[in-house]
Amino acid sequence: MGAYSDFLMNSNISKLYKLMEKCSVCPRKCGVNRLKGEKGFCKSGNEIRVASINLHTGEEPPISGTNGSGTVFFSNCTMSCVFCQNYPISQLGNGYLFTTQQLADKMLELQKEGAHNINFVTPSHMYPLMAESVFIAKQKGLKIPILANCSGYESVEVLELMDDFIDIYMPDMKYSDDIYAKKYSNVTDYAKINKAAIKEMFRQKGNLFINKNEIAEKGLLIRHLVLPNGISGSKEIFDFISAEISADAFVSVMAQYHTAHKSDAIKELSRKITEEEYEYAVDCFYKSGLHNGWVQEL
Ligand code: SF4
Repeated sequence: MGAYSDFLMNSNISKLYKLMEKCSVCPRKCGVNRLKGEKGFCKSGNEIRVASINLHTGEEPPISGTNGSGTVFFSNCTMSCVFCQNYPISQLGNGYLFTTQQLADKMLELQKEGAHNINFVTPSHMYPLMAESVFIAKQKGLKIPILANCSGYESVEVLELMDDFIDIYMPDMKYSDDIYAKKYSNVTDYAKINKAAIKEMFRQKGNLFINKNEIAEKGLLIRHLVLPNGISGSKEIFDFISAEISADAFVSVMAQYHTAHKSDAIKELSRKITEEEYEYAVDCFYKSGLHNGWVQEL
């Protein structure tokens, strides 16, 4: 890595930290001074909290590969989904503190264990600290791709600053209807913000590139979890991806919704999806012109 690119990367890390002063690291723009330890919606200050670090084999095939994906699961979240399956981590903040150096060393350990990538789960509130950790790890010999496994509720300005620190974006497209996004994840303007973020991710990385060993190296892989009663707006999401991102985009159409956290008590979310609902979503996927990605068995 040359001196000039070192400078560029350092400069973007500085800009990312600057955003924490009046926090606008995510589109909520809480305005708190996280550098002084103040906390906004995501309940995160200026430290890294991680719930788990391990090799994970349950991701999509080119992400988990044969050896597993080196998963770093951050505590806390910028969203608040009533059906969150990781509520103790995302909402209660369960986890352990790490310095950027310690996290960099963990990445190198995962690489040594054979991980095909470093997979940061729920990174959106942690981008400045994550960028610094990745920078340190790369200086120490980290070579495997860096993956952002995120909610898709991201600011374009922040994504631009993260370009040098991420190789693969794996965002959700959760809702096409802002009313449901507000009601069930407590976010405003999700659809517009999400679409702009997906466009920026695709502009940076292009379509998912899978190498001859069937391992993803770079690009965009969109995840869409089908919710009961049409709440996730699958048709609109697939039509958007096909028309405005690429008909060749890779999409994982996920069927594993089950009740968790508060959703048992919410009538329209209080059951798994039916076979008909999933078939309808898959039908919409193919009718939109999309053809790359994964669909699941119910
Ligand atoms: S990252 Fe956290 S504190 Fe910053 S704007 Fe988002 S929710 Fe608020």
